[in-house]
Amino acid sequence: MALLATGCQHKTVLTSGINPDNLDTTANPVDDFYQFACGGWMKAHPLDAEHSRYGAFDVLAENNQEQLRGIIDSVSAAKNEKGSIADKISTLYNMGMDSVTLQKQGAEPIQPYMKEIAALTTRDELRMEMYRLQKMGTGAFFSLFNEADYDNSEMCMAWIYQSGTGMGDRDYYLKNDATNKEIRDAYVKLMTTEFQLSGYDKLAGLPADKLAQMVLTVETRLAKAQYDKEVNRDPFKTFNRKSLEEADKVAADIRFKDYFKDMGLPKLTQFNMAQPEYIQEVSRVLATENVESIKAYYAWSVINMAAGYLSDDFVNANFEFFGRTMSGAEQIRPRWKRVTNTVDGALGEALGQLYVAKYFPPEAKQRMINLVANLQEAFGQRIDNAVWMDQATKDKAKEKLAAILVKVGYPDTWRDYSGLEIKNDSYFANVVRSNEFDHAYMVSKIDKPVDRNEWLMTPQTVNAYYNPTTNEICFPAGILQAPFFDMKADDAVNYGAIGVVIGHEMTHGFDDKGRLYDLNGNLNDWWLPSDAENFKKNAQVLVDCFNKVKVLDDPLTYANGELTLGENIADNGGLHISFQAMQNAIAKGQVNGDAMDGYTSAQRFFIAYAGVWASNIREKAMLQLTTIDVHSLARNRVNVTLPHVTEFIEAWGVKEGNGMWLAPENRVTLW
Ligand SMILES: [Zn+2]
Repeated sequence: MALLATGCQHKTVLTSGINPDNLDTTANPVDDFYQFACGGWMKAHPLDAEHSRYGAFDVLAENNQEQLRGIIDSVSAAKNEKGSIADKISTLYNMGMDSVTLQKQGAEPIQPYMKEIAALTTRDELRMEMYRLQKMGTGAFFSLFNEADYDNSEMCMAWIYQSGTGMGDRDYYLKNDATNKEIRDAYVKLMTTEFQLSGYDKLAGLPADKLAQMVLTVETRLAKAQYDKEVNRDPFKTFNRKSLEEADKVAADIRFKDYFKDMGLPKLTQFNMAQPEYIQEVSRVLATENVESIKAYYAWSVINMAAGYLSDDFVNANFEFFGRTMSGAEQIRPRWKRVTNTVDGALGEALGQLYVAKYFPPEAKQRMINLVANLQEAFGQRIDNAVWMDQATKDKAKEKLAAILVKVGYPDTWRDYSGLEIKNDSYFANVVRSNEFDHAYMVSKIDKPVDRNEWLMTPQTVNAYYNPTTNEICFPAGILQAPFFDMKADDAVNYGAIGVVIGHEMTHGFDDKGRLYDLNGNLNDWWLPSDAENFKKNAQVLVDCFNKVKVLDDPLTYANGELTLGENIADNGGLHISFQAMQNAIAKGQVNGDAMDGYTSAQRFFIAYAGVWASNIREKAMLQLTTIDVHSLARNRVNVTLPHVTEFIEAWGVKEGNGMWLAPENRVTLW
């Protein structure tokens, strides 16, 4: 029977769920709660050469990888019919693991692309090549994807979104401090090396270092026109419906009519141009940039996408830059892990189906559904009791809360991979076919009704999400394990860990971005102006609070309160809501309200919350994540977030002058 206390006939003895080895009891929880709750874990899990960051999340992800490898091995050991899913999984895995063939093939798998690009001469040909490169997944110049229509969330529409810079974030191209200059130099070195390895320099008749500089010039031009990350979080600024005629006025040289026809959407009449100024600049680049520079940019986009799937000279050069320089890792991940990721990326739901059959206990699903219901109820109480909102906005908020669609474990229907061809030519060719297969699948959904049963993560993923346009929260099987979810423990720690994760995802529907969508997922302002003002005022306090947090001395780096606002609101709300849910559960006798192993239920809750974020991290990774990640660093998710939570202050008796103290008037409570 269920382990839940409700209706349970046999009293199961549940543990406290607190592992004393994870704590550092020499640290004072009121001064540095992160060190207190995670110090033992951090000491016991020093970083190895392969990781630039390693935390409780990563332990699960690594464990899942081992489990996936086990599944792949057992699938491969059987005799499989040609073209079956099992055959596809094992063929792709074996191609990736066959280092002898990979070394022998060298740059051969990308040769056809290099030759084709080198032979381009006219602007028309350049444009058509961009179409082709996008379909194979290089993201040259921009990306096409399928997303809901923000005015009619029941329908999918085509979105055109900025991309096309090899280093990712525009800051790497535009910031002029010593660290970013070093990164750019290393990037040019990487491109030079790989242009030589690919032989494109010979085909183009230009020296590799010159080609590298040409690419950097093109990408810098693109970076300048890109929206920054903070603006990209604004759904109003990134939703710009355009008819094909309107699009032509902005960016005539892309020829969107031809573009969509080539993508398999000949009947398309309108789409969302997420960043019009950027797309306009792409059009100008296509019309005016030096032809050889655009060709070098294309060649690089193929090489950069392929490097991880070619011979070791490519793989290692790629690691030197993206691994060592960018994130501080000292050693490349073992081949089997990299290849498992590739199989997971190409055949994720097929692996997921085997994964849940083997590793996901059905009773975990039921206990999770109960937890979600308790969280939803607690969230409703918090809305009722909020002093900063009027009744009219509260009513709307509660309607939206009640409408949230909940997904737990794995999808009801699985994706069909029968159209994906995996064969024995080259590892890279299979990756291209998989990308093209995914692209066609994505395109097939455009201008059709949204499928609300679809999952945006595979079940083996150690993560969770909220999707504003379907107003749904999703908790894949992969995250429903300790330390998030401990079936053997009293629920105080589960409320602190997975409960806060649930509350976090629900709060995303009401964070600075999510609150702009209504219960049906349409971009639609349902707020009284005075309540919206109150929300923004409170949120700004959180922005200012995080902006003051120093991340690194050299280069001097502070947290980005604007970029991380949505996540910080979600953590703040998740903590408040889940704590409320735990109080309700204590009142019903479902959680042990007494001390266990020396800690009160409230203390166990906060230890479990912090424990989820136990991790070690290198400075380069801290810098990288502060640049690109919408989440705050793990330490800040504990030590900067918790002082806002009065229940935390009370549970540990934090006083003025303590490191974890924040005066009541400076604490932010939104949800
Ligand atoms: Zn989040």
